[in-house]
Amino acid sequence: MHCPFCRTSETKVIDSRLVADGYQVRRRRQCIECQERFTTFETAELVMPRIIKTTGSREPFDDEKLRSGMSRALERRPVSVEEIEHSLHTIKSHLRATGEREVLSTLVGNLVMEELKRLDKVAYIRFASVYRAFEDVEEFGKEIAKLGKS
Ligand SMILES: [Zn+2]
Repeated sequence: MHCPFCRTSETKVIDSRLVADGYQVRRRRQCIECQERFTTFETAELVMPRIIKTTGSREPFDDEKLRSGMSRALERRPVSVEEIEHSLHTIKSHLRATGEREVLSTLVGNLVMEELKRLDKVAYIRFASVYRAFEDVEEFGKEIAKLGKS
């Protein structure tokens, strides 16, 4: 791995550990030339199904889009980056487990909602209201009422 500071091609790993429940490897590296230290994250890249949008058009699964969508819902909420990464992994595992080459975007949305419901109820409501997964206002109201009780 090239050094991001001086671009030397020789860097060494000085520490390596599993993060995000073992789904990522975090490595501390040091440049042999300039001695600067930096961190890399390594995640297995697995083939994801393509996404069928509600308009019928297809697009490749976008990891970053999913992450930013969840992060936006979880902004300023007491949920760690590790927990978010773990949820992303759960969602992606589920999508791969369908064995389908293409899945509906609504399936992705529903999986995100399930994860958010578990992580943080405020984030769940935020996401649901933006995502408009609820058929109508009445149904949305019922969901909120349910959350209040639990
Ligand atoms: Zn360097």
